[in-house]
Amino acid sequence: MKPVRLSAPVDVPIGIEVIAVPAGRQVDLDLRLESVTEGVLVSGEASAEAVGECARCLAEIRQPVRVTVRELYAYPGSTTDETTDEDELPRVCDDLIDLAPLIRDEITLALPLAPLCGPDCRGLCPGCGERLAELEAGHSHEILDPRWAALAERFPSGGTEKSDSVRVAGGGSTESGSGAYPE
Ligand SMILES: [Zn+2]
Ligand SMILES: [Zn+2]
Repeated sequence: MKPVRLSAPVDVPIGIEVIAVPAGRQVDLDLRLESVTEGVLVSGEASAEAVGECARCLAEIRQPVRVTVRELYAYPGSTTDETTDEDELPRVCDDLIDLAPLIRDEITLALPLAPLCGPDCRGLCPGCGERLAELEAGHSHEILDPRWAALAERFPSGGTEKSDSVRVAGGGSTESGSGAYPE
């Protein structure tokens, strides 16, 4: 058995669009290599830091990802080599094993499809798009009735409402009203 500890540089981001281990970072490997009849058995752990975006509030997230790996790399000419496809099991090639596909797959599978900055993230205010966690308690927008919203659109400078509220009104009737506003 041969223990292997190393940090492998990441050349292409590992993950999905919303969260990934970015290029230029490292994946820490803590592995054991065992020679068995059919090949080399690789087992152990890989860990890295993933960077992404909260699915609710779009805040940047950094979260550790740690995976357990276990894979047989078949010797050329072994029974395993002859009875399996190369996409089923990787091969030992010129006395080398390519760990990258294994590590990339396991890390990608371990990442959340909809990452959150915290389990209780409240997301964004539907009115102004600000993060609810950063707004004062009881934050709300005043125009609720679409008929009043239409009036506010016609007289954008007549009221004392903050521009925030007027924009909410515009958003409520995008087909007819949005063009009336200089952005
Ligand atoms: Zn969030
Ligand atoms: Zn708001």
